[in-house]
This record gives sequence, C-alpha cells and structure tokens, in this order.
Amino acid sequence: MENTIPNKLPVIFIMIMMLAASGLVSCSKQADLRDKPNFIIIFADDLGYGDLGAYGHPTIKTPHLDKMAQEGQKWTNFYAAASVCTPSRAGLLTGRLPVRSGMCSDKHRVLFPNSKNGLPTSEITLAEQLRKAGYKTACIGKWHLGHHEQYLPVHHGFDHYYGIPYSNDMDRIPGGGYLEYFQDHDAIKTEDFNVPLIRNTDIIEQPADQNTITKRYSEKVVSFIRENKNQPFFIYLAHNLPHIPLFASEEFLGKSRRGLYGDVVEEIDHGVGKILAALKAEGLDNNTIVVFTSDNGPWLLFETHGGSAGLLRAGKGSTWEGGMREPCIFWGPGRIKPAVVSEIGSTMDIFITFSKMAGVPMPDDRIMDGVDLGPVLAGNGTGQRKSILYYRGTKLYAARLGDYKAHFITQGAYGMHGKKEVHSPPLLYNLNHDPSEQYDVAEYHPEIIRQINELVKEHQSDLIMGEDQLADRN
Ligand code: MG
Repeated sequence: MENTIPNKLPVIFIMIMMLAASGLVSCSKQADLRDKPNFIIIFADDLGYGDLGAYGHPTIKTPHLDKMAQEGQKWTNFYAAASVCTPSRAGLLTGRLPVRSGMCSDKHRVLFPNSKNGLPTSEITLAEQLRKAGYKTACIGKWHLGHHEQYLPVHHGFDHYYGIPYSNDMDRIPGGGYLEYFQDHDAIKTEDFNVPLIRNTDIIEQPADQNTITKRYSEKVVSFIRENKNQPFFIYLAHNLPHIPLFASEEFLGKSRRGLYGDVVEEIDHGVGKILAALKAEGLDNNTIVVFTSDNGPWLLFETHGGSAGLLRAGKGSTWEGGMREPCIFWGPGRIKPAVVSEIGSTMDIFITFSKMAGVPMPDDRIMDGVDLGPVLAGNGTGQRKSILYYRGTKLYAARLGDYKAHFITQGAYGMHGKKEVHSPPLLYNLNHDPSEQYDVAEYHPEIIRQINELVKEHQSDLIMGEDQLADRN
C-alpha cells in the first residue's frame, strides 16, 4: 500500500498535465475565436447613390449612417456586382461575377416565384467560408437566390434564416395595387402581395406584413448579436426595402420631408442605429466590421417612389453608373481608418476581404473576382482593384479601367423602354472628371480604348459561363 501512491504519481501527473493542456487548448481556441472580428453586411434594395444624407441627399435624414461614414470609410467608387437583384446578390455572396455561377440570364433578369432554380450548391458562399473559421451565421431579409428549400440560406452556409425569399413586389394578388396606383399609396396594401415570410425553411406568415418588416429585420439582428456575442458571427441583413412597393411602420410614416420613400430609408437608418447601439452595449463595437451598401441603383420607373442616383446617370437595370455604383460605408472602430475613399471597390471584394480578416484561405479551385480591400480599410495601402466589368444578363456592356469607362452597348433601364445601341468605337467617359457620363471623349483617347479592349479580351479568354439558373420557370 505504501508504494502504491508514489507509483501512481507519474500517472496522476500526466493526467493533470493532459487536463491542463486540453484546458489550454480550449482556452486558446476561444481566444482565437474572440480575435476574429464579427461581420455585418447591411444590404439595401434599390437604394441609389444619392439617397443618404452622407451622400448628399438634401431631405432624407440618415444620422446613423452619416455617423458610420464619419467614424469609418465612405467609398465613392464602389460597385454592386450587377444592376438588378438576383445577380447582384450572387456576386456579393460568392465573390464571383454572376456570369460564372449562372445567376444571370438573357431570358429573365432575376428569379421569380415560379422560377425553378437557384444558386448552385457548387458555389461557395461567404457564410460557408466564415463557418470554416467557427462563425455563427445568419441571413435576415431578402434572399433572392432561390426560394425552393434546397436553395434557401440554411442550405448555403447560414445557421439561421428569417425573411422574404424574393422581391416584395412579387406574388401580387389579382387586382392588387401596384404599377397603376403607385403614386397613390392608399391604394397599395401589404396584403396585395402574397409574399411568404420564412423562418429557416418554414413559412411562418403569408402575406408577410410589410408595414413592419424593416423594423422586424433590424430587431432580429439585435437579438442575434445578443445571443451570439461569445463567438464570432456573420450577419447578412438584406432589407426588402426601399424596393417598391414602399411600406414603413407607423412610427415613420409621413415623417420624412422626402415623402414615403424618405420614410422608408429613415426607418432603415433607424435600424442601423439600433444595431450599432447593440454592438456597443455588448462591448462588441471594437471587434465588429459593419458594411452598408445596396444591391443596385434606384428604380426610376417609379418616379418619386424610386430613389435617386444623385449625380450619376440612369438607375437600376442599366450599365450606366447609376445602375451599379452604390453608397458604401465600412465601419469598424480601431480596424477601419476613417476616410473618404475614392479607390475602386466592388461587393465582390467583400468575400476575400472578410475571409482574410477571419484567417480563412480562399478557394483555389475556381476563378474569384475580388481583391482584398484590407490595406485600404486599415489605411495602410492603396486599392488593388483597377477595373469594373458591367454585365447586363450574360453580355458585357461596359468596362472601366482606372479613370475611364468604355460602353460597348447601352440600353434603357429596367422596366423602361430604351433602344439597345451598339457602339463601335465604344463611348468613352472619364469617370473622375465626368461622373455623370455626359461627355464622350473616345476620339481623344484611342490608346485607352485599346487598353480596355485588352482587359476585356483577357477576361473573356478564360471565362467559363455557368449554366443559366434563371431561365427555367413554370
Ligand atoms: Mg434591387
């Protein structure tokens, strides 16, 4: 007996060491996870370049976004991946041109409630990417990458989904208000649009009450932050609004000097304030990056119910600047250096930028279309993106290289008639001198047109187009 305990000492010692080591491992794993920043993407729908106070709107009040811009970075040359909803969202979440994933089409420009397909499972979403590093992920709001169960966010890397799976003007009931009455808000009711509200994969409300949808989306984000504050998280908040038809909760109706459109944008801004306040209250403001932007430009067909592209030409659906250049604000105290940034950026850059910050290697089995915005965000480097490709469906209409943009084809905006014109030589604009694209300077710069043609040739040389996911409808 006397010898037993000393004999067991080494064993006990080893066991203690093993326990301590596993504790250390799990502590350091937790510390690693805590070091990873949280990410929140707030994506507005059809909000134009000129629709925020910080971007010069004279009567829409957006104090929270303006403050975000002041404390963070306000980008002035930032682009959506496409000028309409579905391809734009595919580009943001995959970091790839929609033409590669098949999420654009010359037959239908977006997915509809009778569409058969969605984002292919072979695509890697930002949510799947961040999950590899232990992130909790939530998609709240408009998805528009396929509403059949196998295409919903919970099958594309998100732990949770809560939202209307496509545009808020879809599933219109026969005789329901809309196009004919859009100027008469009293004639448009949320019940006129039988859109479902989905939690994970279940419909929990139909028609979704759109009067309160913006408010509810923001509240869901706040709850998710509180519930997941102890591990890194990624929240993709994609508002259904200010896409028409416009709805706001009672608290905001009739408040904005810009009218109903202003009410809607101001409610979104209010939600941004609530989200930032929740981050501060939970002590996460120094470890969270928030980015605010929009999927495409304003829907000008709807006159005052659509937004404004400010000084940019045209809007949603077109490859003029107003269709794809968006307000974009990055916020992250201590990580994002406050500045107004005129470097070129794209929503497709967010995939690689956030992947790097989270320490997740990039996929190496496919062509990606982003650059790392990290050095510019940190204030210690210049922008790596020199070009933007402007697709309409599967056709390349225009290309930007540095200061200049060449239009090979131009066409009227979404839902508006406008003839398609092919330009040879292309129209050429200096976007820094002429952001409104008014003065064609092609005849003075044949060498720049040559350079842009080279860029296009190089892009097209290894382009493999994905199978069209938007064409098939019942
Ligand atoms: Mg849109």
